[in-house]
Amino acid sequence: MKRKENDMKNACSRRNFIRRSLAGTAAATGGILMALGCSPRSPEEKAKDPCDGSDLTPEDLKARQRLGYEEESPLPDRRCENCNLWLPPAKKGSCGGCSLFKGPVYASAYCTYWVPQV
Ligand code: SF4
Repeated sequence: MKRKENDMKNACSRRNFIRRSLAGTAAATGGILMALGCSPRSPEEKAKDPCDGSDLTPEDLKARQRLGYEEESPLPDRRCENCNLWLPPAKKGSCGGCSLFKGPVYASAYCTYWVPQV
């Protein structure tokens, strides 16, 4: 009986160790990605891809994440450019926008709030 209790304690502590390790790794990765996503870019880098949203605040990025925003739509027939909430680019070749959040939006992007154009 005593051995079974010890085995249970060891299994629990191993589980706890693995859980804590995974949580620490996820937190560190998230911090690094957040830092990379929020880092200011040079004008040359920005000119290469003006739609990536790297100049957005962490709050604006969170707003996008809450809506499930993805830069490339996983559904070929559901893209920002054919969504009713899409704000077309002011001039050809620039970024579009979305009625739901701030910042540039790729025509090829998607979020879970996609609605067909009427
Ligand atoms: S609601 Fe979603 S799918 Fe529609 S334009 Fe905005 S980000 Fe794109």
